[in-house]
Amino acid sequence: MGLAGTNRFLRTLGIYLIKRNRAFRSPLGQAMYLGYVSRRMRKLDKRPPFVHIETTNVCNARCTMCSYPIMQRPKGYMSDQLYLKILRDCAEMRVADVNLQYLGEPLLDQKICDRIREAKEYGFRVQMVSNASLLDEAKARGLLASGVDELRISMDGFTPKTFEDIRVGLKFEKVKGNVERFLDLRARHRGARPRVVMCFVGLAGNQSESKQFYDFWRGKVDLVLISQARDWAGQLPLVQLGATYSTSLPRVPCNHLWEEVIVLHDGRVTVCCESYDGQITVGDVREQPLAEIWRGPAYERLRRLHRENRAGEIPLCGACKYYAIW
Ligand code: SF4
Repeated sequence: MGLAGTNRFLRTLGIYLIKRNRAFRSPLGQAMYLGYVSRRMRKLDKRPPFVHIETTNVCNARCTMCSYPIMQRPKGYMSDQLYLKILRDCAEMRVADVNLQYLGEPLLDQKICDRIREAKEYGFRVQMVSNASLLDEAKARGLLASGVDELRISMDGFTPKTFEDIRVGLKFEKVKGNVERFLDLRARHRGARPRVVMCFVGLAGNQSESKQFYDFWRGKVDLVLISQARDWAGQLPLVQLGATYSTSLPRVPCNHLWEEVIVLHDGRVTVCCESYDGQITVGDVREQPLAEIWRGPAYERLRRLHRENRAGEIPLCGACKYYAIW
């Protein structure tokens, strides 16, 4: 294996370890992660690897682990003009991946399939995250025709009671039926696209169902992801969420600042999920190209403070346990 092959192997192994929580707790996993972080910190890509575009922040659920119920900013839908401007900005930066979701349910956006098509015309790999409660047959056919590359479905429960206690406002049987019909239509449509990922966030009330969830869905979809709840930088108590966090983990610069950008539906740009109300706003795409914001002074200041181990000077980052939640 040449040097490039070795690097590729180490990177893949590092990412695998990061994603496998248990492996990450091992000394090898932690060493790999720290190596990955320090390599990442030395180099800022010309473009963010991932751009999240919030076409709406309206949702039809009130999930117990989500910041949506405590979000204060006005709810709304992104204008066509702004959406197309963001796509142009991303294309100029040669961004490869976009996710058309942040805090809302994208299937509430009546234009979502057109928006996916527009993003595909620019050549982006398009991902979307949905609660699938509105994924009726018409929407399913629309999504399949839109060319979306990956559909992530959040479900978080294997029994109706657990699911409905957590995903407040949604019905288990309806969501499960919608997902199964979508998979059936996909099989009849053209087979492998979009890639379907079932997501389960581990909480106090559902940990006992994670294995059943995994076993049930793994043969049906392309990937099953089991993750830990985040506490939204202290806004929701970890104990209630059932997440564990390891005080033995060293605080490291936050990968979000190097790896992704979030554009809120009103055009403001923020840096991570914890900043759900735009608490950290680094720019506004209505006033500046996204490329300027990505390399601009507000973003650079955050990165510098993290590199210098002074993340605590940023109020939101100071309260954030994201680095230690596993
Ligand atoms: S440390 Fe937490 S609040 Fe700060 S950028 Fe990272 S995820 Fe966001």
